[in-house]
Amino acid sequence: MAKRDYYDILGIERNATADEIKKAYRKLAMEHHPDKNPGDKSAEERFKEASEAYEVLRDPQKRQRYDAYGHAGIKVQANPFDGMEFDLSDALRTFMSGGFGGFGDIFGMGGGRSQRDRKLRGADLQLKMALALEEIATGVVKKIRIKKQIKCNTCNATGAKSGSAPSTCPDCNGAGEIRNVSRSIFGQFVNITTCTRCNGSGEIVKDYCMDCRGDGRIRGDHEVEIEIPAGVATGNYLTIQGEGNVGPKGGPAGDVIVIIEEKEHEYFERNGNDIIYELPISFSQAALGDKVKVPTLNGSAEIDITPGIQSGKILRMRSKGLPHLRHHQRGDQLLRIRVWTPTKLTKDERAIFEQLQKSDNMRPPKSVKSVFEKLKGVFN
Ligand SMILES: [Zn+2]
Ligand SMILES: [Zn+2]
Repeated sequence: MAKRDYYDILGIERNATADEIKKAYRKLAMEHHPDKNPGDKSAEERFKEASEAYEVLRDPQKRQRYDAYGHAGIKVQANPFDGMEFDLSDALRTFMSGGFGGFGDIFGMGGGRSQRDRKLRGADLQLKMALALEEIATGVVKKIRIKKQIKCNTCNATGAKSGSAPSTCPDCNGAGEIRNVSRSIFGQFVNITTCTRCNGSGEIVKDYCMDCRGDGRIRGDHEVEIEIPAGVATGNYLTIQGEGNVGPKGGPAGDVIVIIEEKEHEYFERNGNDIIYELPISFSQAALGDKVKVPTLNGSAEIDITPGIQSGKILRMRSKGLPHLRHHQRGDQLLRIRVWTPTKLTKDERAIFEQLQKSDNMRPPKSVKSVFEKLKGVFN
């Protein structure tokens, strides 16, 4: 599918300012964010598309290349996990790193900014989780150990050597931000920027903690339990809040985004919430009919093969498929009948087949022979 023009996607002019680009993206991203539109694939597509456009147009260099060469001039930064196209996780990362603050801010849930809020938030982590169809059928709780930056207990995340307390940043007097006031004929302008000396924390450390070198955090890991609901599919994701890297000097932790990947099954094929299973049967079963036990995702079930069934016929076993993610119905299991041809015959078996071969009943109505018979008058 041809990619849409990035400016069209964001609904902006080609000479839009950085601010207009940001505003347009923010509006679209909020409208189409997957958390606000659960299960809505088209909203998810719009969200991804807008995020990709924003990712390019917000970067002056990329924007220049895009303006000059179009999509060919842009290679979206490779996803560290699979190097694939710009996907949902990239879009979520764009959204979260978009300078809009956290989710709380963007959806209007954030309260007043306290000293703690101003501390830098730790990075989000993303991981892929491969699940078997059987696990998807029932839902599963997975325990995983996440390697991440954790709080340094030596200094209690202050970054200061024991015995030396962090002191108030002299540049901002502990405010964490610097106000520059300028005057003009139009009045007074106040420009507020984050204090670079203390990174907004309002505190500085003179004697560093040796374990974390003043960062307030160290490498570590943490085990979490992740409850995965039944019916998930590749590309679905779960956000585990507060399980990402902790922020420097006691800043709040980022999130962990778990992206679901479905493992290929040896026997079952998934089609939405239906499960397809190819059922091989013998010549005689096909001709005479039979009762057959077939495997399902949660055990087995019996199915009637009607006499005279054809290869390729699909039999439907209601509600033997996967549960839907958002309601309590299940998909079906579909059996694709395949008549299996024996490859070795004993002398006796061969004799029986040779006997059968003589019967007109054994010949398919659209056999090559019958086609030739019908076409005779046409070509000769
Ligand atoms: Zn420390
Ligand atoms: Zn400061």
